[in-house]
Formats: sequence, C-alpha cells, structure tokens
Amino acid sequence: MIDLRSDTVTRPTRPMLEAMMNAPVGDDVFGDDPTINALEHKASQLFGMEAALFCPSGTMTNQIAVKTHTQPGDEVIIERTNHVYYYEAGGIAFHSGCSVRLINGDRGRIRPVDITDNINPVNDHHAASKLVSIENTSNRGGGSFYSLNEMIALSETAHEAGLKIHLDGARIFNALVELEAPSTILGEHFDSISCCLSKGLGCPVGSLLLSNKDFIKRARKYRKVFGGGMRQAGILAAAGIYAFDHHIHRLKEDHRRAKLLGNVIAAAGFTDWLMPVETNIIIFKMKDSFSATDFVQKLKDEDILCIHIGKNQVRMVTHLDVDDGMIEKVAGILNAINR
Ligand SMILES: *Cc1c(COP(=O)(O)O)cnc(C)c1O
Repeated sequence: MIDLRSDTVTRPTRPMLEAMMNAPVGDDVFGDDPTINALEHKASQLFGMEAALFCPSGTMTNQIAVKTHTQPGDEVIIERTNHVYYYEAGGIAFHSGCSVRLINGDRGRIRPVDITDNINPVNDHHAASKLVSIENTSNRGGGSFYSLNEMIALSETAHEAGLKIHLDGARIFNALVELEAPSTILGEHFDSISCCLSKGLGCPVGSLLLSNKDFIKRARKYRKVFGGGMRQAGILAAAGIYAFDHHIHRLKEDHRRAKLLGNVIAAAGFTDWLMPVETNIIIFKMKDSFSATDFVQKLKDEDILCIHIGKNQVRMVTHLDVDDGMIEKVAGILNAINR
C-alpha cells in the first residue's frame, strides 16, 4: 500500500524505536519522567519559549491553549477552516464555553485587518474578544503557509488590541523549512504554540504546547482535567527527541515529492482546479464529469490510498514513509487514469 491519506500514518523507524526502547522513564504526573522533561526542555528552547507541556494529541494541546487563554463567554477569532474550529468537534464551545468569530480566509490564512474588523466593542452586549488563533501550515489550505513577516504582523495586531494569539503549528516545521527560518524566533511573537510530533515528524503519538512558565503551569492543570496526564510516557517523548534531531530537515523531501505529484495532477484531465502545492499537501477538485469517490476507489484498487475531503475534492499527503519510487508509481497510475 502507498498511503497518501495523511502524514499521520507513518510508522516509527528502527532508530526511533531504539531511542524509545532505551529511554529512561518515570511517572510524569509526578513530574518524574526524565525523557519527558528533556523533551519539554528541548522544545521550549527550540521555540524560544520558557516552558512546554507534552500532550497525547494536537487537538488536546490546542483545546488546552484555548481554555487557558479564555473565560466562558469570551470570543475567539479564527479562520473558518482552521483545525481548532473546524476539526476539533466543537471543542471551543465544549471545553471553554467561548463563542467564535469566523473569518473567510485565503487558503486558511487571515490578514491583520481581519482581526481589527472582528474585535467586538467593549460593552454589556458583546462577547469579549480575547484570543486569535491561526494555523501554519494550513491543512484545509492545502499546506499553504504564512511568511515570518505575516505571522509577526498578525501577532502585533492582536497584541496592540490587547488580544492573545495562539499558533496551531501542527505542521509548523513544514512552514519553517520552506521559509528557511529558525523556530526560535516564534516564541517572542506568540502567546502559545502547539506543535505535532505525529505528523511530518513521524512520531507515533504526541504534541507539545509551548508558552511561558505561568501559562504552562495552568495548562498542566487543564491537561489533568482533560484526562491527558500520562505516566511512563517517556517512551513516547524519546520518539519526539529523536524526531527533532533527525526528521526536521528532511521535510523538504516531502515537499519536493508533493510538488512532483502536483505537476502530474495539474496536467491531468480529471481535474481543473489544484491548490498551489507549497508543502506536503495536495488538494484538487475533480471535474464535474468525474466523481471523487470513484477516483479514490480506483486508486485503492491499485493499492494507493488517498481521501475524499468534500465538494468533490481529493487530498494526498506526502510523508516519511513515501519514497521516490512510490511517487513514480502513483504518477504512472494517474497518467493511466488520464488516458
Ligand atoms: C492534525 C492537526 C491537529 C491535531 O490533530 P490530532 O490528530 O489531535 O493530533 C491540529 N491542527 C492541525 C492543523 C492539524 O492538521
């Protein structure tokens, strides 16, 4: 099987498994797991933040961040296709009791004026605008990303208005390798950042929440409330440390392969609309005469997996377990469908 459904489908590599097996562990709920402590320390340094919190999922890191930034009845400004709103099962309402102000963005991205235009006046009638949440790279945006200056402009706009800003950086390293920018500068611009280890970085489990010491102290309590305190999870954190050391720079390879596939699809007769392929995600719309469901099935019959993501659109994602030979095979099959 060539699995292009998501970059979450990767299996840990042999050296990653070895790092996991050799990890010293302890009870992290007591703060005793040396490998988790090392991962949290390493991550906070990587992002130029004071502290970090290891969590089981990206959804949990994001939702803990929203909870820690807000009070019930506050409002969160967010683009309508961003994961924190669109794919977290109503978590903002469920966990934090906040309303949302949805922005129609450009491939998942918003502009500073979208923030200023959507801040509520302070009075007895309106929800208090508290938090801006952005996503980089953007999943529904086909892996589109913000430049460093764009991120800084959004952060400055939010802060000038007295709002906090959270970065859903599930795939932040996919953006950073394209920008050729160091992760360390992000810390000074965002009030909190989440980062997935289980996407392009290739770990089996885990996400990190980054912020200042006080915020992470409060977030740790919410992680407990959410049921996310783990015990000897250092075996998972060891995979994270390994991935930070070995799997960041190689993301460029995933992007190169996604662009190769994108070029094949752009020239194909079954689509007339392909989102620009900027990182490791390829999203295209089938022509009206083709059905995305049939297309996905046809590829499945050839041992290639991808997903139908609505409105006759198809998504493919490249990752650690996809090599050049597989891309060649997929390209061959796509060209054959085309004929
Ligand atoms: C995958 C993803 C998350 C978190 O997902 P989990 O499956 O809960 O780890 C958050 N944000 C974005 C943009 C994602 O793609």
